[in-house]
Amino acid sequence: MDHNGKPKANYEPGPDLMAKVVILAEGPRGTLAKQAIPKLGLDRDKDPMVYAVGIKELWQCKTGSVPAGLVIHTFGYPLPNETFGGGFIYGMAGDVLDIGLVTGLDYEDPTTDPHDNFQQYKLHPAIAKMLDGAKLLRYGAKAIPEGGLYAMPRNYASGLLITGDSAGFLNGMRLKGIHLALKSGMLAAEAAYEALEAGDTSSAGLASVEAKFKASWAYDELKVARNFHQGFKAGMWAGMLNAGLSMYAGGRAFGIRDRLPGEAGYARMKKLSERAPKAVEHRAKIDNVLTFDKLTDVFNSGTMHDEDQVAHLHVADTNICAERCTPEFGNPCQYFCPAKVYEPMFAKTSGDGDKEYDGRLQINFSNCVHCKTCDIMDPYQIITWVPPQGGEGPVYTGM
Ligand SMILES: Cc1cc2nc3c(=O)[nH]c(=O)nc-3n(C[C@H](O)[C@H](O)[C@H](O)COP(=O)(O)OP(=O)(O)OC[C@H]3O[C@@H](n4cnc5c(N)ncnc54)[C@H](O)[C@@H]3O)c2cc1C
Ligand code: SF4
Repeated sequence: MDHNGKPKANYEPGPDLMAKVVILAEGPRGTLAKQAIPKLGLDRDKDPMVYAVGIKELWQCKTGSVPAGLVIHTFGYPLPNETFGGGFIYGMAGDVLDIGLVTGLDYEDPTTDPHDNFQQYKLHPAIAKMLDGAKLLRYGAKAIPEGGLYAMPRNYASGLLITGDSAGFLNGMRLKGIHLALKSGMLAAEAAYEALEAGDTSSAGLASVEAKFKASWAYDELKVARNFHQGFKAGMWAGMLNAGLSMYAGGRAFGIRDRLPGEAGYARMKKLSERAPKAVEHRAKIDNVLTFDKLTDVFNSGTMHDEDQVAHLHVADTNICAERCTPEFGNPCQYFCPAKVYEPMFAKTSGDGDKEYDGRLQINFSNCVHCKTCDIMDPYQIITWVPPQGGEGPVYTGM
């Protein structure tokens, strides 16, 4: 379809894929899972899923400077105490450093910019030293489902199974989800196979996937980490205390409580009238050596979208952007998007030099690196990410 939604010469209508069992494995905030979970009530009695976004780069370092297998996890810096997150530095073969920063998508300051947080992270003297003389190879960004066991939806329904990040199979304490995505896929395959053999692919027929999960090491691992992210609601030090105590108490929060309450991350964002925005005052200086602006990083993500297509980011009502979001939150989409997709257009300038919003939200959808942050963190929940045409997007080779 062209940018007006009109069929192009190579147009072919989408086919219906008919199957007795569909297994959704779309990664975090899956397009279909996002619709199926509330529609089928799979989130009943569950906490809202909470996410973080990881901003990551690969660097080619000096020969012999990176021990392959190096693993460093850091907490806090440069994030304020109130914001969940931390960094990771992994040594890969061939002197490649894999370095990134995770920012919790339940921050309060609406001017929080995860991409900028990562630029600041690289300026820490210890990290700057590791990257001395190194060359940036690749860039990427992606959401991480951090909510844990109590935020995981029921992952089966009639003819449906959900696996991996789409169903929240991720251990936030270890920042690891690949092994859980694999395991959940194996359990889903077993449940689907047995249901097909028995000729019953209804919800009852597929329910065995839950029993299989509860009997597996994956459940034991997620149970211990079940209150990890929630413990950071009161700040980094409280979160670390909770993480330490709960490890020795089978996952009980602060060693005593079975379940800390969960809350959707976007709902924690404070209005400009409720708190002074601080993050916007401390942005990293871009030097194009260690730190890069968002557009340079988009280039390094290999992202490609044909511009002659319907934008794959749907904003339900741009009047809300202009009339409510500007005065209430200051258009946080311009900050949380790590690819400079959202640009509120400031056309008019008042007498005292202040810029005013002219009501247009420019959506540079071809920059999108598919992280899903906007779909998750928009305070009005009016942004919907849908897949663009033909598998377009970032090229995350080696990421
Ligand atoms: C910065 C960062 C660092 C991480 N570090 C680690 C780590 O060190 N170790 C670890 O174990 N885990 C790590 N994780 C987590 C790990 O990447 C995920 O848990 C894991 O990749 C989840 O696998 P998945 O198959 O469920 O989803 P994904 O790996 O996200 O795969 C889903 C796939 O589906 C595709 N897709 C989505 N929607 C559609 C659609 N509608 N149609 C067709 N295709 C679609 C996506 O493009 C994607 O290729 C990290 C995550 C991040 C963001
Ligand atoms: S538009 Fe949304 S999904 Fe795309 S890069 Fe920006 S925040 Fe991520």
